[in-house]
Amino acid sequence: MNLVQLKESLNKVYSVIPDFKCKHCHICCGPIIWYEPENYFIKDYAKKHNISLKKFEDKCPFLDYTGCTIYPVRPIVCRLQGLIKELPCKNNKKVYLSDRDLKKIKNDFNKILTLTNGYEHFYSSRNFFK
Ligand code: SF4
Ligand code: SF4
Repeated sequence: MNLVQLKESLNKVYSVIPDFKCKHCHICCGPIIWYEPENYFIKDYAKKHNISLKKFEDKCPFLDYTGCTIYPVRPIVCRLQGLIKELPCKNNKKVYLSDRDLKKIKNDFNKILTLTNGYEHFYSSRNFFK
């Protein structure tokens, strides 16, 4: 899978995740994990936009006083925030994704990880700087 195909595949998975009216309060922007295929596009975006990572203990390294610095390429975990029980949002109590839709999203995302060895290369706020 080349980079164009990879980006298309990732965007296809992201595109079926419903958008809800996130208030961008950033309360949920704590430590996160993201995977190698996502990391490639995050790094590329950060480079193009001169974004430097922040060294927070308990917050996302992509958060600054302006908000999320990588919002267009934010990882899947952020896109699912507020839409599933495991990632609650105080401003969106309703769970929007059915188990069936979530399963499909997970399956499609996992297929990409399998193809790119993404499982073996994941990053987290807590260990990114170590
Ligand atoms: S998902 Fe919810 S908690 Fe997170 S930034 Fe949006 S409104 Fe705030
Ligand atoms: S990548 Fe953006 S949306 Fe996701 S936790 Fe970090 S600051 Fe919040």
